[in-house]
Amino acid sequence: MSLDINTAPESLVHFLGSGSSGNCIVIEAPEGVVLVDVGFSARETLRRLGTLGIDPERLRAIIVTHEHGDHVRGVRVLAKRLSVPVYSSAGTRRAAFLDRECQDSRVLAPADPTTIAGANVIAFRASHDTVEPIGVRVELPQGAVTVVTDTGEITAEAREAMRDSAVLAVECNHDVDMLTNGPYPWFLKQRILSTRGHLSNVDAATAIADACHDSLTAIYALHLSETNNAPRHVRTSVDTTLERIGHPCRVRIVGPLGCSD
Ligand SMILES: [Zn+2]
Ligand SMILES: [Zn+2]
Repeated sequence: MSLDINTAPESLVHFLGSGSSGNCIVIEAPEGVVLVDVGFSARETLRRLGTLGIDPERLRAIIVTHEHGDHVRGVRVLAKRLSVPVYSSAGTRRAAFLDRECQDSRVLAPADPTTIAGANVIAFRASHDTVEPIGVRVELPQGAVTVVTDTGEITAEAREAMRDSAVLAVECNHDVDMLTNGPYPWFLKQRILSTRGHLSNVDAATAIADACHDSLTAIYALHLSETNNAPRHVRTSVDTTLERIGHPCRVRIVGPLGCSD
């Protein structure tokens, strides 16, 4: 994989999978590979990296967005096996026991830019039912990649980070009608719909439209609920909004096995 300045930014981003069964995003930074979340076992993560032809020896760091199992499951074992640092907010570091169980656990404080594998990385606050969840903006020479997942609302910081990104990877968790009329118990529906739950298709589409600009080249939908969403609903919400504002991008769906679009 060439890291030439003219490389299309979306070709530097790969998805090992997204959803409640596990999340892991691969970003090719100037000095090596950075993973955002490792929600699969270390063994499964290595298998999926192999399928994409990515040499695990190129891994330089893992960034953890929050302590839920579908984001953190394989972090400790993979970090130990490959001897790489693990970055997270101070709250996630404590809640996921990264400070005790990882040899090299570092704090990535919101709004405090850090250089990771040669890329400028800016964490920003997300809104989720965990101690200190974050999203990340990874600024590559080819353009910024911004990941916003597991958030009940788009925070002001997330909105700022999404602006002028070349690649957006945004949670499109549920269709509000499917969730409201679906089989989940009332308390779980309330949790998902709350400002500390998960992002709906419509809220994601609005945030993406707000962040649209000429150099935005790829939009990925993350963390679709298998019970309360369907790719067609994501496309209806996001693509209709993009068409209305005249932007040529169309959303690509990232499922449990990665991005097939
Ligand atoms: Zn999750
Ligand atoms: Zn979560």
